[in-house]
Amino acid sequence: MPGIYAHIPLCASRCSYCDFFSFVAPERRNLSMVDGVTSGHDARRRSPFVHNHGAGRPRSVADHDYAGDVVAALKRELTARRGQPPSSDFLRGAPVTSIYIGGGTPSLLRPVLLQSLLDHTASLWDCSGIKEITLEANPEDLTDDYLEALARTDFTRLSIGIQSFDDGLLRLMNRRHTAARAHQAVRAAQNIGAQSFGKNISIDLIWGIPGMTMAQWEHTLDEALDLGVQHISAYHLTIEPGTPFGKMAAASQGNDSSSAFRPIPESETERQYELLRRKLQEGGFEHYEISNWALPNHRAVHNSAYWDGSPYLGVGPSAHSFDGHRRREWVTPDLEKYLTKGPSYGGETLTDSQLRNERLMTGLRRAEGILASTLTPRQADLANDLIRQGLLTQTAAHTKTQAAKKISIPAEKFLLADYIIGSLFE
Ligand code: SF4
Repeated sequence: MPGIYAHIPLCASRCSYCDFFSFVAPERRNLSMVDGVTSGHDARRRSPFVHNHGAGRPRSVADHDYAGDVVAALKRELTARRGQPPSSDFLRGAPVTSIYIGGGTPSLLRPVLLQSLLDHTASLWDCSGIKEITLEANPEDLTDDYLEALARTDFTRLSIGIQSFDDGLLRLMNRRHTAARAHQAVRAAQNIGAQSFGKNISIDLIWGIPGMTMAQWEHTLDEALDLGVQHISAYHLTIEPGTPFGKMAAASQGNDSSSAFRPIPESETERQYELLRRKLQEGGFEHYEISNWALPNHRAVHNSAYWDGSPYLGVGPSAHSFDGHRRREWVTPDLEKYLTKGPSYGGETLTDSQLRNERLMTGLRRAEGILASTLTPRQADLANDLIRQGLLTQTAAHTKTQAAKKISIPAEKFLLADYIIGSLFE
């Protein structure tokens, strides 16, 4: 299921938990690179785009050539990846099954510009049998005008970063939208995109936020279910060093008061996870991957390629690619260089044991698990121990060619996935 990912490294502001590679939009931060995490230098002095500001200061990223520059650079990279020897095109010319435009905040870009990126991709690869074209969007960008323009594009799916339906938590996370705005954006997308992306909406939620009560979490889940979306990704918050949350946690070290900002206790994590599982199951959602739930026939096609070892090609600063065999590459996360000199790449060729670990890591995140026959004899012994402890289950696999067994992590044990998978590593 080969897929193409394009990374739009632009955001309007920086969320308190985020360590993704992105660059804050010009009108908000005057082109300064995002604090600390992935940048490490001040682009104000060096950016080739600063001189464009002049008197006619841009109103938004969408009105500035900057968005056009990013898309033009992505197109150049796509052309180069397709045009070079087959090893560069990790898809090896195979028909593309999915396209995912993520970021950053791709919905800062006008739909017509995003469509030009899709058109360019389709001019290079066979996209005639494509199953899914996703746009990542933030609720505040999904105005009626924007959605009407988006309905004239080829996007078939929206992935909306809502994170919470509690205004206090949204403020804590420095999100730009309110709960009401998120609600309104989903409803408008369902209406205006009724013939396309409106029928296939995914929302992102975050749980395990310090200070979040069970009542707040239940309210968020009820709101999410009430909206009638087809897919929900719910991620446990990780406090990353260098982010505002990371700094708040560091400043709280040694502070035992209830206002201290620190990861929530395990018992709280378990209660929130149980509520999440129960609510979404009652809502008819299938828990098909550790952090992902879908209504029947609405699993994420593109993300599934990451989990099942399919080849994918990622373009844009910080994007990763995998050739479906052993080779992994990534674009250096430096926007300025990317725009002015083109991409530079890091890469690695996985050894046999790295490859096996990788397959364990991605395969056991999925509810269906992995074929037991892919384990080494030593791993099979360890897996049997884990089965005895109830941390893995073994079931008959339905393969065309042979009677085989599958092993998987039971959904109620997903919280222990790191430990379980780690114990099988070579
Ligand atoms: S909008 Fe998304 S990519 Fe941008 S800072 Fe927030 S979470 Fe990170």
